[in-house]
Amino acid sequence: MPTGLPQTDAKNPRQHFDIYAILEGSQELYFGHEVQVNINLVEMVKLTKTSGESIEKCYLSPTKRKGVERRCLIWSPLKTGELLGDRQKCGIPETCADPKCPICSVYGGLIVGKKTLIGRVTHGGGVAVQELYPVQKQRAMHPSRLASPASGKDETPTPFKREYNQPGMLYPVSNHALSITDAEFAGVAYAFLDSLPRIGSGNPKGVAIAESNQQPLLVLDRYLTPKLKRPIISPSETDPIGAINKFLRLAKGQEDLDYIQQSHFERWIGNAALEKLQAYASQFVDTVLQA
Ligand SMILES: [Zn+2]
Repeated sequence: MPTGLPQTDAKNPRQHFDIYAILEGSQELYFGHEVQVNINLVEMVKLTKTSGESIEKCYLSPTKRKGVERRCLIWSPLKTGELLGDRQKCGIPETCADPKCPICSVYGGLIVGKKTLIGRVTHGGGVAVQELYPVQKQRAMHPSRLASPASGKDETPTPFKREYNQPGMLYPVSNHALSITDAEFAGVAYAFLDSLPRIGSGNPKGVAIAESNQQPLLVLDRYLTPKLKRPIISPSETDPIGAINKFLRLAKGQEDLDYIQQSHFERWIGNAALEKLQAYASQFVDTVLQA
């Protein structure tokens, strides 16, 4: 097969799935990017607003989110006491690239010079809404830099600073799955939900799905025909209320529904989307981890 994928059957049809969400930093967050002399920097993006003004924004990069999701699957616990990655002999960066691997079959795999399995889950968004600069904080010295009387060398402790994205920043994000079965999407749903408390480098970590009127800002599409408007927020948007209103308007259109069905297209919004994703995550636990 040119795609490297096994054939499926009419009982397990392949579909496209999209997850759209606005995530909120539950506390300050560090996304390791570059280290300059004695300072760890977070990742920023530069952009020009539609008004022509150039701005810089904090960034929760899609590649970092994808890495955290893959790690959640690798570390997911099996009934036998093993971890899924150990059973599959599938890790980072040494993936197994087995088309039957619940991780590589969707997230892709590579054995250099031998085998490539193209990933069918892609990640987008991540440019923060608010135009807030990261804050620098003094952190404890790295233990390796502490003075050691034994070596006799001058190991004067060096001050060490780290940048943090400020708490409460909103990050519109999206995950897209191309031609995968419901069973394969179950792993994607599990990874998306399980990764939320684990996003960030070092401590602290974690984001929440932001809410509006007690409903999570979350949309799940399952379709063959791409329909309706996609709730994507322009990186030019700097007003959190504006971003939330736009997300809801694009997700719902004129009507206030939490489920929209059209031919070859279904959309779940808010709590309905969360429940649907949680049902897929449970399916992954029951059929892969606890099977
Ligand atoms: Zn694998």
